[in-house]
Amino acid sequence: MNTAIVWFRSDLRLADNRALSKALHMAERVLPLYIHAPGEDDGWAMGSASRWWLHHSLSALDVSVRRLGSRLIIRHGPSLEVLRQLILETGAQYIVWNRVYEPPAIARDKAIKESLRADGLLVESFNSALLYEPWEVSRSNGEPYKVFTPYWKAVQNRGLEHSILPLPPSLPPVSTGVASLAVESLDLLPKIAWDGGFRETWQPGEEGALSQLQEFVDSALGGYAVERDRPDHAGTSRLAPHLHFGELGPRQIVWAIRTRLASGGQSGAESFVRELGWREFAHHLLFHFPHTTESPLNERFVSFPWSEPRAEPMQAWQRGKTGIPLVDAGLRELWHSGWMHNRVRMVVASFLVKNLRIHWLEGARWFWDTLLDADLANNTLGWQWVAGCGADAAPYFRIFNPVLQGERFDPDGDYVRRWVPELARLPARFIHQPWQAPAAILKSCGVTLGLDYPYPIVDLKASREQALEAFKHLQC
Ligand SMILES: Cc1cc2nc3c(=O)[nH]c(=O)nc-3n(C[C@H](O)[C@H](O)[C@H](O)COP(=O)(O)OP(=O)(O)OC[C@H]3O[C@@H](n4cnc5c(N)ncnc54)[C@H](O)[C@@H]3O)c2cc1C
Repeated sequence: MNTAIVWFRSDLRLADNRALSKALHMAERVLPLYIHAPGEDDGWAMGSASRWWLHHSLSALDVSVRRLGSRLIIRHGPSLEVLRQLILETGAQYIVWNRVYEPPAIARDKAIKESLRADGLLVESFNSALLYEPWEVSRSNGEPYKVFTPYWKAVQNRGLEHSILPLPPSLPPVSTGVASLAVESLDLLPKIAWDGGFRETWQPGEEGALSQLQEFVDSALGGYAVERDRPDHAGTSRLAPHLHFGELGPRQIVWAIRTRLASGGQSGAESFVRELGWREFAHHLLFHFPHTTESPLNERFVSFPWSEPRAEPMQAWQRGKTGIPLVDAGLRELWHSGWMHNRVRMVVASFLVKNLRIHWLEGARWFWDTLLDADLANNTLGWQWVAGCGADAAPYFRIFNPVLQGERFDPDGDYVRRWVPELARLPARFIHQPWQAPAAILKSCGVTLGLDYPYPIVDLKASREQALEAFKHLQC
């Protein structure tokens, strides 16, 4: 075979990239292609934070590809037209990509595969994003899983370790006649500079992903089982955006920690891989129940009495001005750094859907726009889990109390102090509930409630009871 096209999508890496590896094996010339086709996302167009990441990840991929002797070709969609045009220009006969699992992308890829095959081309797709394809794991009756624990047991029984593919030593050059857009022309960066915090915190790209993994394994994996719940500590991997953009795959992670996995429960590795299991489960669910991006898996919730849409509470939540310190800290961390700790994601989501009774999709859309790791499978699972309407979800009546959660998981208040600096001088016993502090303490700490920091926008106890009442009606 003379010429192959590798269509990069959510697999922006060179190591352990099955499509790239196969193309290099099959063809003399290999064209690394990225197609920018935002119109093909159907309702879930990439959010602002993700666009920032994509810009830097594509730039990093181009640098890596050039280092090996080639260059990345970037073009504007529609995808099928671009592929056909490049085939025409270069005479490519072999087209490969790694699979993605968002419902509109599956439909698009299927149609493209059929069209190109009908044109007489050889087209193949591979799995470089998951330990197992969503259809490779199923219950004994062939049905998909809806409960995590048996799903994960089935995955473990199949085996977690897979061989991984090394970084190719070199790539064949792309002839100068093949045109490419500059990544800047995709206009992915924000017009208003709100990305300062992103730049401080993250290094998009394969190199950044591998060094983040190494740092996590060396410094935090051992304590992960306990520390993963502490937003005041750096106890998690922060690999989620790298995983979402495929700068690193789960098989590479399992490979990197295989000796720790073999040494059992104390190493933190089992607990960490279990979280990767939730990512696998989320993709399993999205594949088998694609409607869940818009509607609840548990159909009883279709008629749930969400409150009437009101801009004020939603804006207070988005801006981290609800008057509930842990909630506000989380939403400000999100705005500043494009990421939020998992425990706090659960708390802010519960506050939105239960205390404010705002539809989970409103929250999911805000996360979608502001998270650097926004991922349709994981975000849908996370929101439906908290709302109580998804697979294996927290029961609706389990409502997180953000004060107790704060006292338990941020006991000294360091997380709140960092993100809500106006409360920084409050003693730990009041930092999660400043409205309980005596006036003299508030004064000595320079806090005037209602002026420096809001009173809670809802009464936690009363709103909890109202949510439970609404849920009771749903059961009737
Ligand atoms: C309401 C809500 C929305 C969420 N939205 C997203 C999202 O858009 N994108 C996203 O990647 N995760 C999402 N999560 C899951 C989880 O919060 C993040 O994956 C995690 O906080 C990322 O940080 P980390 O990489 O340090 O995670 P670690 O604790 O280091 O975990 C390692 C990896 O496992 C996966 N993972 C961990 N927890 C989960 C989980 N509960 N569900 C699925 N995968 C998981 C992620 O890929 C993560 O990078 C959401 C959770 C909630 C409650």
